Amino acid sequence: MNVLAQMNTAKHEQVVFVQDADARLRAIIAIHNTTLGPALGGTRMYPYATEEQALRDVLDLSRGMTFKAAAAGLDLGGGKAVIIGDPLKEKSGALLRAYGRFVNRLAGTFYTGEDVGTDVRDMEIVRTETRFVGGLSPEQGGGGDPSPITAYGVLEGMKACAAERWGHDSLEGRTVAVQGLGKVGWHLAELLQTAKATVVGSDVNGDRATQASQVLGIRTIDPDAIYDVAADIFAPCALGGAISANTVPRLKVAVVAGSANNQIASPSAARMLSERGILYAPDYVINAGGLMNVWVELHGYDAARALKLAGTINSNLRTVFSMARELKITTNEAADRIAEERLAQGARVQSGRSRGEVVDIQGTPAAVASAQF
Ligand code: NAD
Repeated sequence: MNVLAQMNTAKHEQVVFVQDADARLRAIIAIHNTTLGPALGGTRMYPYATEEQALRDVLDLSRGMTFKAAAAGLDLGGGKAVIIGDPLKEKSGALLRAYGRFVNRLAGTFYTGEDVGTDVRDMEIVRTETRFVGGLSPEQGGGGDPSPITAYGVLEGMKACAAERWGHDSLEGRTVAVQGLGKVGWHLAELLQTAKATVVGSDVNGDRATQASQVLGIRTIDPDAIYDVAADIFAPCALGGAISANTVPRLKVAVVAGSANNQIASPSAARMLSERGILYAPDYVINAGGLMNVWVELHGYDAARALKLAGTINSNLRTVFSMARELKITTNEAADRIAEERLAQGARVQSGRSRGEVVDIQGTPAAVASAQF
């Protein structure tokens, strides 16, 4: 598998393979970078066909978390974990507890939470073995479902897009095409309506689309037709890869801004978007509200603080846009540069602690003040 060679490609710090035969646990934990703080990333459970696939996924995802945290101005590094198995058939209390014990062994260099295939309940079981876990329910002192905060961050990001594209940040009278009316898309549609925007939505789950049109009173259309809607903003809030060489030529919008991870399917799609003059809000900058919510939880959850922090996505995106304009680069490139610059700066000023050293999040109040970016 050439693990060390693969780790070297994106400079991963540590990859831990764990197994507990009795609990039928097989998992990989990847810590990409701890320059800015302990690595944080969700635990995904998925029936990977091969160990290579699982490794590829965890390496990519953990690197993405480093960039997301850095661009969000958080004192966190990037990590991720994957449990190999079908969450519907192979998840058990014993497996989750065994996993929690391995997370605990990392002694605070890695914090985790829910992801695809795991949920808040699972994290509560993991929590019985380790305190290095977030995304718990409000009853357990956690921030609960991060989707409302993520949606709020996306709304703030859209305002920054409006200011960049139309000179003022009001969304009143704008039309937004929302792809995916799940947890984030639904909340976003509600917020947009409050901001007096018109929402057109789609969901591959027909029941969900019907529910949205009945409850929210929005127009819903066929999932594939969402790319052809004449609107001001296209908001991908479903799965990754919505922006591809096939879909970009169809878009009739001025802005792409949504919550989905990995929206851009290929570098050529990003170039096409920029050539068509469509403003793109880099996904990992605009969808950082969920990460911010977990970060606040790790310091003692406070909903008002989480909301305030998610509001900084507005200024974070404005910084990205002005850099892209000045340097004549794409917004994606600008976001990467901002994250890389923060990492380089972090490496330069790193004093008093060395990379990967155990950091107790509860004990670093300075991080709270510096998270305004
Ligand atoms: P979700 O599963 O609740 O909602 C996704 C919805 O998209 C579902 O209703 C699904 O039926 C629909 N869908 C799937 N494919 C579609 C398609 N081709 N066209 C239209 N609809 C489609 O997930 P979510 O929590 O709302 O997250 C949405 C996206 O935002 C994901 O990419 C997720 O990774 C990302 N994200 C979510 C959060 C969060 O706080 N939940 C944070 C950061 C990023």
